[in-house]
Amino acid sequence: MKEMQAYAKQYHKDMNWEIHNDNYERTRASLLNNYMLLTTEMAEVAEEFRRAFNMANKSIQEGMDEDKAFELAKEAVKEDLGKEFADCLAYITKMANYFEIDLEDSFYNKMNEVKNRKNKDVRLMPK
Ligand SMILES: [Mg+2]
Repeated sequence: MKEMQAYAKQYHKDMNWEIHNDNYERTRASLLNNYMLLTTEMAEVAEEFRRAFNMANKSIQEGMDEDKAFELAKEAVKEDLGKEFADCLAYITKMANYFEIDLEDSFYNKMNEVKNRKNKDVRLMPK
């Protein structure tokens, strides 16, 4: 993750796509613009899920076993879904780099915090 974040920092610099930091208003606009772009990429992830579900449902309607239909649909969207996750990561790493946040440390710290949380949601286990 640290390597990817360092790569993203150089990449965004080379492309001149860094968060502007020359004054507050420009920085604010730049952060909000990048946040907006992240949300559009997140919507594109949802579109890939939708494509997979539509593909699976069509195959199920045509008589295919549900699990087999979904396995085929997953495989069909895998490459494009990976691209959309990558787009999301590009914006997340850019904003994290602006704030000088080490995402790897933040990730493990947060996962540990969640694991040790006392008020976790109660989930029913399959019987
Ligand atoms: Mg995209």
